[in-house]
Amino acid sequence: MRCKICGCEDAAVTYEGKIRDGRVGNYTSEKMKLFRCGRCGTIWHDNSGRDSREYYQSEAYRNELEGTSDVDAFYRLHDGESLEKFRYTGTEIFRGKTVADIGCGAGAFLDYIQAVAARVIAIEPSETYRESMRKRGYTVFGYAQEALEEYRGKVDVIVSFDVIEHVEDPQTFLEEAYALLSNGGKAFIGTPTDAPVMREVLGGAYESFLFSTQHPWVLSEGSFAAMAERCGITGFGVRYYQRYGLGNFVYWLLNRQPGRHKGYDFITKTMDRAWISELEQQKKSDYIVCEIVKDVCAYEGSGEKDR
Ligand SMILES: [Zn+2]
Repeated sequence: MRCKICGCEDAAVTYEGKIRDGRVGNYTSEKMKLFRCGRCGTIWHDNSGRDSREYYQSEAYRNELEGTSDVDAFYRLHDGESLEKFRYTGTEIFRGKTVADIGCGAGAFLDYIQAVAARVIAIEPSETYRESMRKRGYTVFGYAQEALEEYRGKVDVIVSFDVIEHVEDPQTFLEEAYALLSNGGKAFIGTPTDAPVMREVLGGAYESFLFSTQHPWVLSEGSFAAMAERCGITGFGVRYYQRYGLGNFVYWLLNRQPGRHKGYDFITKTMDRAWISELEQQKKSDYIVCEIVKDVCAYEGSGEKDR
């Protein structure tokens, strides 16, 4: 079977069963097939069964995922993630710059950025959130493609977290982000992995939670390498981050369901840090961030370098 990202013929079924449909605890009524490419590691399914543009523009997506599409509720659910996002980006690169967040939701992260950035561009399909951000003074677009008319080659920093796994065509997503970047500009594109340790230990109990109708893709370092090669991006690298601690793993082992950031008395900070840092170093973490720099010579990160 043909891989939808790298084009090789090395793809096969990696999971067949019910998968998550919206909120935790909701599952598809039918079994779904997930395919995995043996070469680049991309995992995908073909069964979203909805018009994704209409879905993300309306309030349906947030309502299905979080039970609300209210702006204040968005802050309550997502403000806590901003510190993690600064861990991926650092704090030094935003001051005086033009910054875009692709798929920014109600703009929880951008609210911090706007204090130091010269200009903030909020790209978000949801009309409810866009309206709120327009009122707060942001430059607002529904899609990166629309932003390109005015901002091609003019964006210094792009951030996009937990978005690329939702889009119909990740290759186009990457190409549009790259086209927005200024020379020397930098993009951070973060996405959940297939959390290989969790899959290995927990099998189907975890996979039916991990795989979701809303995520047609689970991308890997190899997926980004294949896509970058196709659109001529050479200045890129992938960094590994573990978002969930040892307590989450223990809770899963005991209960076969998600415990979020559950803690246990016997799990000390040292144990938790060792768990996180080992998974990151072994490239078996639950999250990756692809960093792209438009001027290859300026790239000093880890990962692949072609010059
Ligand atoms: Zn592939």
